Amino acid sequence: MSRVVGHYAPGLLVTVVGALIVMTVVPVVGAAVPVIALFALLAVTLFLAYAVLAHNRQLCERCVRALPLDASSVAGRYGLRFRVAHLFESKVFAAFYLVVVLGTALLATHPIGRYGWALVQATLAYLLFVYVTHQRYQPWCPTCRNGGEEIEAPIRPVSVNG
Ligand SMILES: [Zn+2]
Ligand SMILES: [Zn+2]
Repeated sequence: MSRVVGHYAPGLLVTVVGALIVMTVVPVVGAAVPVIALFALLAVTLFLAYAVLAHNRQLCERCVRALPLDASSVAGRYGLRFRVAHLFESKVFAAFYLVVVLGTALLATHPIGRYGWALVQATLAYLLFVYVTHQRYQPWCPTCRNGGEEIEAPIRPVSVNG
């Protein structure tokens, strides 16, 4: 059950982040949301995060079916996303990003600072796309292919003349 939810969870999380951005940029909206709803949103977010992890434990048929036939050429267009995904392998970079997120979160109620916070929230949404793309197209990720295990298996064109 949670695996099915997990398949769609990143998309739902993007929606949650979108709602947070609206609440940040338009404080009137944020103020109108009752605290109980915010707690409910937090609970939903945690459940979705759990569902994402459950989804990753096994190969998901939905993901396989969602792959386009020309997956490798589609993957070729996602070079930036693959690079961003691997940026987070660096603990220094991940820690730095976390500090930026927490730091700008403190500005959430600042009249100008809140736009910075909204921007950082937008990067969170982007990272969800990065995450999904990298997970689905990992066999075509240039960094995964070159680094780590040597699973270099160049697909040789079958020669007709032998
Ligand atoms: Zn899936
Ligand atoms: Zn990779």
